[in-house]
Amino acid sequence: LENVSHSFKNGNEVLKVLHNIQFEVQKGEMIALLGSSGSGKSTLLNLMAGLMKPTEGHIYIADQDIVKYGENKLAVFRRKHIGFIFQAYELIPTLTVRENVELPLVFQSVSPSKRRKKAMELLEMTGIGDKAALYPSQLSGGQQQRVSISRSLITEPSVIFADEPTGNLDTKTEEEIIRIMMALNESMNTTFVIVTHEMEVAAQMKKTIMLRDGYLVQPEEYTRPAAGGSKAPNASSLP
Ligand code: ATP
Ligand code: MG
Repeated sequence: LENVSHSFKNGNEVLKVLHNIQFEVQKGEMIALLGSSGSGKSTLLNLMAGLMKPTEGHIYIADQDIVKYGENKLAVFRRKHIGFIFQAYELIPTLTVRENVELPLVFQSVSPSKRRKKAMELLEMTGIGDKAALYPSQLSGGQQQRVSISRSLITEPSVIFADEPTGNLDTKTEEEIIRIMMALNESMNTTFVIVTHEMEVAAQMKKTIMLRDGYLVQPEEYTRPAAGGSKAPNASSLP
């Protein structure tokens, strides 16, 4: 990201929620994006994932400035290179688990047998191969999130953006989901950017980025949880 700023307009009111954000994520990294409620994490993630355009600045993914893309080109780029995992899973209730995972490939006109094979592989990897024929409502929250993770991976994206992927889960399930994402990060070298409120989650990431009121907090301004230092994490910046 290069000098990214973003404002929301509401009639005559302009609310600037991100100020000159600049940082880099390397391929294969897994980073946590931290910050208190309203600090701009989701907005930043949506910009990075090409779901919205910033009012200023540039966002490069694989050397392509996605800010310059028109809507159609951006949609194609997103489908090919980007995966998204939401807090609320966003599964389609009328499709089975396997069909939900296959869905992104339907839009890419991949043959049904190929789609099915890939979906089953991913469901096995995330540990819910036996649930393939069930509907989302028949699954627990953690299982639904595994479906969502499988779906985000089926297009083999370069980068996955996850907005509080464990926000609705209990601590034990949260740990499982994080472990799955870390394993996938290692085995597939997929880059992950994960928004989280949980210091325990952030503590497991090698790299963290923190927002405060729309500004990037420099790493020296807070104790990096991964460093395991004696100073406690800056709790005042967390809810
Ligand atoms: P949380 O941890 O609660 O999810 P967040 O860090 O993800 O918070 P954002 O959702 O990015 O925060 O919101 C940042 C700021 O932008 C907030 O002040 C919010 O009210 C404002 N905002 C977000 N979306 C819009 C919108 N569509 N229109 C106007 N203002 C918005
Ligand atoms: Mg948010």
